[in-house]
Amino acid sequence: MMAQYLALKQQAGDCLLFYRMGDFFELFFDDAKIAAQVLDIALTSRGEHGGAPIPMCGVPVHSAEGYLARLIKAGCRVAIAEQVETPEEAKKRGGSKALVARDIVRFVTAGTLTEEALLEPRRANVLAAVCEVRGAIGIAACDISTGRMELEECAPDEMGAALARLGASEVVAPESWENAPIDCVSRPNRSFGSDEGETRLKAVHGVSTLDGFGQFSRAMLAAAGGLVAYLDHVGRGALPLILPPVAREAGTHMAMDEATRSSLEILVSSSGTRRGSLVEAIDRCVTGAGARLLAEDLSAPLTDTRAINRRLELVSWLHDDPLLRGDIRGILRSLPDVGRALGRVVAGRGSPRDLGQLRDGLSEARRLHDVLRARSDRPGPLDEMLPSLSGHGALCDLYARALVPAPPTERSQGGYIAEGYDAALDELRRVSGNARRAIAALEAKYRDDTGVAALKIRHNGVLGYFIEVPARHADRLMAPESGFTHRQTMAGAVRFNALALHEEASRIAESGGHALAAEEAHFEDLVGHAVRAKEAIAATAAALARIDVAAGQAERAAEGGWALPRVVDEPCLEITGGRHPVVEAALAAKGERFVANDCCLHPQDRLWLVGGPNMGGKSTFLRQNALIVLLAQAGGFVPAQAATIGLVDRLFSRVGASDNLARGRSTFMVEMVETAAILSQATERSFVILDEVGRGTSTYDGLSLAWAVAEAIHSINRCRCLFATHYHELSRLAEACDSLSLHHVRAREWKGDLVLLHELAEGPADKSYGLAVARLAGVPAPVIKRAKSVLEKLEKGRAATGGLAAGLDDLPLFAAAIEAAEEKVDALRERLNGLDIDSLSPREALDLLYQLKAQANG
Ligand code: ADP
Repeated sequence: MMAQYLALKQQAGDCLLFYRMGDFFELFFDDAKIAAQVLDIALTSRGEHGGAPIPMCGVPVHSAEGYLARLIKAGCRVAIAEQVETPEEAKKRGGSKALVARDIVRFVTAGTLTEEALLEPRRANVLAAVCEVRGAIGIAACDISTGRMELEECAPDEMGAALARLGASEVVAPESWENAPIDCVSRPNRSFGSDEGETRLKAVHGVSTLDGFGQFSRAMLAAAGGLVAYLDHVGRGALPLILPPVAREAGTHMAMDEATRSSLEILVSSSGTRRGSLVEAIDRCVTGAGARLLAEDLSAPLTDTRAINRRLELVSWLHDDPLLRGDIRGILRSLPDVGRALGRVVAGRGSPRDLGQLRDGLSEARRLHDVLRARSDRPGPLDEMLPSLSGHGALCDLYARALVPAPPTERSQGGYIAEGYDAALDELRRVSGNARRAIAALEAKYRDDTGVAALKIRHNGVLGYFIEVPARHADRLMAPESGFTHRQTMAGAVRFNALALHEEASRIAESGGHALAAEEAHFEDLVGHAVRAKEAIAATAAALARIDVAAGQAERAAEGGWALPRVVDEPCLEITGGRHPVVEAALAAKGERFVANDCCLHPQDRLWLVGGPNMGGKSTFLRQNALIVLLAQAGGFVPAQAATIGLVDRLFSRVGASDNLARGRSTFMVEMVETAAILSQATERSFVILDEVGRGTSTYDGLSLAWAVAEAIHSINRCRCLFATHYHELSRLAEACDSLSLHHVRAREWKGDLVLLHELAEGPADKSYGLAVARLAGVPAPVIKRAKSVLEKLEKGRAATGGLAAGLDDLPLFAAAIEAAEEKVDALRERLNGLDIDSLSPREALDLLYQLKAQANG
């Protein structure tokens, strides 16, 4: 057995091997150790290998899904080795000692799940393949639970952002690629060929050219090849649902890098869960598919005014008609997950219940179609979607006739094909039903015949049907002429057979077996119909999801009194009465009120410095504006009284180092790497929020960096920017930078207590209130008192020396300062290069050093 195990393990590679033994999947060696630890189950041992006991653990087959889910969550991949013949077949093949043949039937990995129990209903599950072809990065992404496939190409430095947007649960890349993303699964290089990719895609879709699907670059095709090859490997030759690929054009979506996504807490909050995230505060979808699409919309806001307005038009229509919205949401609420049911059916892992879900989902789609068509004021985008909601009449009729109302998830017991669909099947069922009734009648007859009232006819897997009487009555049935034959003696009972019972039992077995086979054949046929209509069904699922998102956005807007944003091309940002959806909800839960604030950026006033005390609401203000931009470009209403959003091509959000300590790299280093990315990438159409840049280092360093970064953003990047800082000194930037203005969050001291008003006002902050905030936070009074006297001393000192920012008056502007510094360095370099060191006397060398030093300083 070990030889068979080890051979399979070799094929499984770095996946844990689930080795089927009877009713268990067993794991051995290191696999067992890992699984025992992750699953918290007992690690035992068995036999020995190389002189040491073999570690082992196992999980019951019937509850394997739950264990698989936990292993996958913990980052493991699993290969499932099943018995591929029965013990009888094995004996026939190789004698009584023959080992049952086993083979890996599939791999279970995070990105290739289709099981309902293993997937989160409200989250897409994306598998991505990435590779590089002549300097271009190709990315193929597919959610195989619904079959959606997208191909894109980007520059190497954009790969991180693209992968962050996709949020893939598994990424595969060529094994010898040195720039492969970390934690990816390595696959053979040859599967990432563009020719191979093209061939595979053509084969999957049965077409001779891909032109009908769009134009795909070499890099896209190579990535697609790697993706399909991996799916083929994982499914052991059985491919899941893959819809025709869609090319994602560069620049059609707002660029956001990973740091921005996590700092804006779009899909997960800083706690790593959905709680407290933006999507949680927005999501009012009533279907899983809608929630998945909403998450996608928020991950990839659009940059095309027309496309955004199309989404907004639909949301707005549904917003203005609460009754219609209620009706639509009512229909959607009862919908099964059509897309995922289709995914399972096409992958060959569908159940009768999945077919039932297709039937119910598609007929509800039709109902929705009729409701919407009855409305003459439909917006254009909806008109275009309507045809995808209908058109499955024949399939729905077929399934309605063929399937029972609530088909089971299991096929093995049959009973899912409806009566009246197949006369032959009905007849088989009638025969077996009659035989069952005959058996019930026999029981009464045998009781009469024998006079044993406790006689029962029972059934089990080993004996089939048998007659059982308590041991003390057994003698009557043992008599040779009784007509009963003895089969088994138990502790308190004796079991018998009888000819008539045997005959009826055979009838049941025979007709039951035929009925099962007939149901199987119908199942295959019904699956075939769905597979042939897969693209149309997927289009219906997509339309339903889009309508759910729009209705959910409208519902959210109505709930919160949100506004329809106006999206324009000029680089402005005018938000009246803006709010932060997550903070507002958190405050509302505590019965507190959120203070709405305005933001008004335009080319002549595009950089706002926001000062004020800690806890005053600076971060909240910055983020709410970024989120409003994001929500608007995702095609939804925004939490504000009114908003005009000048289209944003890239959104950046950076938070001072001390706000996220849980990173591996030095926090200040991370902050600077991220700031560097903004300075190199932000354009005049970008929107940047910078929160306490420079906080992670000493006061002087921090202030100087914040100063230089603000200047560069103002004069070089020229993007719209909100810049929160507690360095008062930065307010002097307003003197030299025309398009920069000063703002602060208001606070007041009242009877010695600090009152934070969370209200934005113009002008610089008057003081920092640091000590007052410390008192609010509960720092003991003696410490505050001591701090106060230290502060007084420091301030006196500052007044005497001219202060921290003394001397900044004559600081030349950013670009000029850099040039001057570089000129100086060049002059020094020139002088040094021209030196003949060997010809210098020690005295001359010393003099020269003095001169160079003076030149460097001067
Ligand atoms: P800062 O960045 O100035 O330190 P934050 O933005 O982190 O301050 O805000 C601190 C707290 O103040 C928030 O957690 C929130 O509870 C409250 N807050 C912030 N903005 C508002 C507002 N506009 N209305 C009401 N409460 C607010």
